[in-house]
Amino acid sequence: MTASHVLVLNSGSSSVKYQLLNMTDRTRLAVGLVERIGEDASRLVHTPRGGDGRETTPRVPDHETALRALAKELERDGLGFGSPQLAAVGHRVVHGGSRFTRPTVLDDAVLAEIERLTPMAPLHNPANLGGIRVARALNPRLPQVAVFDTAFHATLPEHAARYAVDVETADAHGIRRYGFHGTSHAHVSRRTAELLGREPAEVNVIVLHLGNGASAAAVAAGRCVDTSMGFTPLEGLVMGSRSGDLDPAVVTYLTRTAGLDAEAVDELLNRRSGLLGLCGDNDMREVVRRMDEGDAAAELAFGIYVHRLRKYIGAYCAVLGRVDAVAFTAGVGENMPRVRRAAVAGLAELGLAVDERLNREQSSTARVISPQYARVAVAVVPTDEELEIATQTYALVKDAG
Ligand code: ADP
Repeated sequence: MTASHVLVLNSGSSSVKYQLLNMTDRTRLAVGLVERIGEDASRLVHTPRGGDGRETTPRVPDHETALRALAKELERDGLGFGSPQLAAVGHRVVHGGSRFTRPTVLDDAVLAEIERLTPMAPLHNPANLGGIRVARALNPRLPQVAVFDTAFHATLPEHAARYAVDVETADAHGIRRYGFHGTSHAHVSRRTAELLGREPAEVNVIVLHLGNGASAAAVAAGRCVDTSMGFTPLEGLVMGSRSGDLDPAVVTYLTRTAGLDAEAVDELLNRRSGLLGLCGDNDMREVVRRMDEGDAAAELAFGIYVHRLRKYIGAYCAVLGRVDAVAFTAGVGENMPRVRRAAVAGLAELGLAVDERLNREQSSTARVISPQYARVAVAVVPTDEELEIATQTYALVKDAG
């Protein structure tokens, strides 16, 4: 099979992000984004390799229109859905439940199974499915692959995956920790081993994916053994607008006593909590800027964020027993020395420290920022979920054609 291009589609509730990669040299042939789908002012930005971004403002009432619009942009560069170079489309799918533990070629039966998982990811899976359906219609002969955010966490041992609730009830409803951000944790843990010049099977890594959504993962010899997101992406670390860990009795209290219904609690914890709920800003850059001006709410929000992060680092040191590296990734993890420093400050007993000069260096490449003497390597490792999805997709289809 000579076709070597893979189109990666990440269809969210109001946006579709896409990248076209050439898998022979892993270069990007085009990257783009359709945003504000279903709103008045939709926007499409398409950037071909070596060219300037083309921005248009088409009317995009739904995902079907969004995909047709981005397909047209690719077509203009001779790289559309009908291109003989296109080997496959790789779709990010957020929730694979217990059923999908590896990338899966999409057919009608797989689509139906993903659809059945919708109640577990009501915001994400329908948007992912919308993208898949339209992409299949655009070229029915093209292989399409689903790559699941949950898959990397399928190796969690039962004692980490199960909540301590009645087993029959849990099993009847699929209540367990699935974990998310799996493509990022897989990519970053492997890259961290490479950075240390070791095989993934030789190292234990704590990955801290700190973006708008945030999660931690404990990866032992290349296999994930614990992660902070659970049944949904709400559990764990403090995020941009999500609360992370919370006593579940708060939910029952709010519904019984404060008159909030299930929808209102869901909205409160997913969209009006985290940094946003604590200080009115969900962007960590803004939180830090305000903190420097002496803003008490921003300082408290930062403090709560960092406290939770440190608890997970400590917990995963205990889970792993021996830690070789702690890797920071995603928007906050890659770009905010302040958060990295606070996360490991005073943890020399655990072998953790950062060299402040290395920590402050601005760079977009993977690097170690701990001092030579430190027992554990602290690293900044840029994530690349699109490359990971493309790699997994291509591995599945390249020999099949
Ligand atoms: P997601 O993919 O989950 O939407 P990102 O990984 O892009 O999120 O992270 C976004 C967050 O990273 C922003 O809310 C911001 O607080 C933080 N951030 C800090 N510095 C930067 C930067 N230079 N570029 C992008 N995000 C940054």
